[in-house]
Amino acid sequence: MEIVRSVAEAQQLARTWREAGLSVGLVPTMGYLHEGHESLIDAARAACDRVLVSVFVNPIQFGPTEDLGSYPRDLERDATICAAHGADAVFHPTGDDMYPAGFSTYVSVEGLTETLCGASRPGHFRGVCTVVTKLFNIVRPHRAFFGQKDAQQLAVIKRMVADLNMDVQVVGCPIVREPDGLAKSSRNTYLSAQERQAALVLSRAIRAAEQTVRAGERDAARVRAILEEEIASEPLAYLDYAQVVDGLTMEPVDTIGQTALVALAVRIGETRLIDNFIFEEGQSCS
Ligand code: AMP
Repeated sequence: MEIVRSVAEAQQLARTWREAGLSVGLVPTMGYLHEGHESLIDAARAACDRVLVSVFVNPIQFGPTEDLGSYPRDLERDATICAAHGADAVFHPTGDDMYPAGFSTYVSVEGLTETLCGASRPGHFRGVCTVVTKLFNIVRPHRAFFGQKDAQQLAVIKRMVADLNMDVQVVGCPIVREPDGLAKSSRNTYLSAQERQAALVLSRAIRAAEQTVRAGERDAARVRAILEEEIASEPLAYLDYAQVVDGLTMEPVDTIGQTALVALAVRIGETRLIDNFIFEEGQSCS
């Protein structure tokens, strides 16, 4: 497996693959890989001839008071995981290569970036859409793999790809959880033992909401109340948002229709964690 550190090299490598008639899968990550990322690499490996995993802590998607400096990084460990899961290359560019002096072009998706994490983290999705567009242009993948853990991000990227006629298939992959329910996240490493225990409140709340919706509840206010009550029961948890939104537009709904996203962002100490479930009428698993 190759480790490619420059934009030009990554572009050249992916070009070679395409010219050989091979299908290319891209897995964009910020590194410090866990089983959630591994599931994306596995999905890419199963669907594509060549798999490139990008590992880049994208500075422009972090707000000024967020954890850019402390975000966990370990390229050696990440590369071992990528190789074990059959990736063909890891792309690990520098910030200067991705955003050289004079960089001035950004991609903004309107509307569905204004709720949920978009409301709590101004500029976040502009940073995400810009880096993902750059990665798509560098690698020109046939397919790109994203987790439903970041459900709003997945919806925003699908919108961007459709709106800008990007020639790439966006594949969404289910949330991978710890055995006790906590959604896997690189940020879980920030949690103390006590906070780790408290963080279970997110998946507990999501599970309670999911059971209620699956049992037939369609009143979004009642589903929100279940989430809020559950979060309020944990003294270390501070609610950022508990929302029920349309699965496509990300706009809050009063009544749950064909598709909905039930989404939660909670601070446990200094650590902001998210969780969700996607409801689709007639489907039995989230
Ligand atoms: P990140 O490194 O956190 O930017 O995440 C990179 C990709 O991995 C994104 O598409 C995430 O949605 C996905 N991902 C992160 N955590 C999980 C998880 N627990 N289950 C599935 N996908 C995940």
